[in-house]
Amino acid sequence: MLISPCSQLSFEKSRPGRRGASLPKDYCDKSKGLETVPDKFRRKRALVFPEMTEPEVVRHFVQLSKKNFSIDSHFYPLGSCTMKYNPKINEWAAGLEGFAKVHPLQPQSTAQGILQVCYELEQDLREITGMKRFTLQPAAGAHGELTGMMLVRAYHEALGQTKRRKVLVPDSSHGTNPASAALYGYHVVELKSNARGRVELKTLLEHLDDEVACLMLTNPNTLGLFEEDIVKVAEAVHQKGGLLYYDGANFNALLGIARPGDMGFDIVHLNLHKTFSTPHGGGGPGSGPVGVSERVVPFLPGPLLDKQGEVYVLRDAGPKSIGRVKSFYGNTGMLLRAFVYIRSLGLAGLKKVSEDAILNANYLKEKLKKIFPIAVDEPCMHECVLSIRNYKAQGIHSGDIGKRLLDFGIHAPTVHFPLVVEEALMIEPTETESKETLDRFVKTMEIIAEEILQDPDKLLQAPHTLPIRRPDEVLAARKPVLSYRDQLRERILLAEGVPG
Ligand SMILES: *Cc1c(COP(=O)(O)O)cnc(C)c1O
Repeated sequence: MLISPCSQLSFEKSRPGRRGASLPKDYCDKSKGLETVPDKFRRKRALVFPEMTEPEVVRHFVQLSKKNFSIDSHFYPLGSCTMKYNPKINEWAAGLEGFAKVHPLQPQSTAQGILQVCYELEQDLREITGMKRFTLQPAAGAHGELTGMMLVRAYHEALGQTKRRKVLVPDSSHGTNPASAALYGYHVVELKSNARGRVELKTLLEHLDDEVACLMLTNPNTLGLFEEDIVKVAEAVHQKGGLLYYDGANFNALLGIARPGDMGFDIVHLNLHKTFSTPHGGGGPGSGPVGVSERVVPFLPGPLLDKQGEVYVLRDAGPKSIGRVKSFYGNTGMLLRAFVYIRSLGLAGLKKVSEDAILNANYLKEKLKKIFPIAVDEPCMHECVLSIRNYKAQGIHSGDIGKRLLDFGIHAPTVHFPLVVEEALMIEPTETESKETLDRFVKTMEIIAEEILQDPDKLLQAPHTLPIRRPDEVLAARKPVLSYRDQLRERILLAEGVPG
């Protein structure tokens, strides 16, 4: 059988002696500098790399890159992840030499440009959320949540309130919420949502006592619904001495429309790598700034960034600070991209972003609910949730629809989340998609619904067009094979007579 070079690994393409670059002779002198390396640290045998020419290397990586789904190549309606287009002007700014080459250890006087960007970004985030101050350090949403939990404890301990051990979390919350609270030693208490997918005031009051440190909430919640009782909820929690934490990872619905600060929240995290168009996925750098209300400011991580006259300075955050949560000043490349995004749109542009995100989600909801049942049939915010529970007879789960969509060149929506919806399919189109793209998605879902009835096997075997079809998802997450395994490498080298 002829194997297509596209499906070969680089080690299989390797041939002894092939080279992609010619370096000066003395550059490759193996013994040079070795005398300073202690014997126990030296390799006992030569390192094995694939040996290939430059065009082979280029083809290898270009072919690999084409196997990916990305926001630059495919529609990506991954609910709760806000896979919106990352404007290329962000990358242009991040590539400017003065930003790309700035070093965190250089004197502050020579890094005023990036410090100004961070300072002004903080002012913008304050304006957008209504919070008093931000730390830009956390590197992800979950990292922001952990920082938030540290702030909650520091706040209560400063008041001598040491028995506040409980954190309330609605059952519709993102999994990172209870995980972050539990990781920091809090006892997590789950609040059951009502039939309309919201926090029920009565249920909240039943659980509110003087052991509650904090209520963690997402608004809009993970069903894409706005918590209408939010002001009453905030009052109730504050009355009992608790704090309110806002998971603002999905702020795409509220830009320029509503502010968590005005709703009474004390601590807020934002995901710049979602709402503010900095790239994400694949484990790249993220950014999860945390904003706080006035009474939590003294506990913020340091250093804080201030402006003294015309000079931007990083200063110590004071004796009550929880300390540093990230090296230097966070992922500044992400901060810069988010800043460019905010300033290129302006406040009016940001409002339009959220209005369009909401419009797109409601357009899809109205079309899709004729094909699959909707979890809660009410106007949604930036995303909507379908339930695929009616296809048990065909053996079809929401994940099978996700797999089949890949064959049509559409990234899978979020499946089996939120957990409160049976067979959930969570769809977030974002504001950057055209009506034509949304219509094509609806048409594809119609085709798939028909297939479920006519030929369910087509879904159960999907995807049919991709090199990897149904990997063991648990193994893939727990024991990912990220490098060419030694075993296989040995075998090929043996076959080619290369001494080990
Ligand atoms: C994505 C997300 C998070 C976690 O953010 P990470 O950056 O992935 O850690 C938390 N809450 C909600 C609602 C999210 O959508």
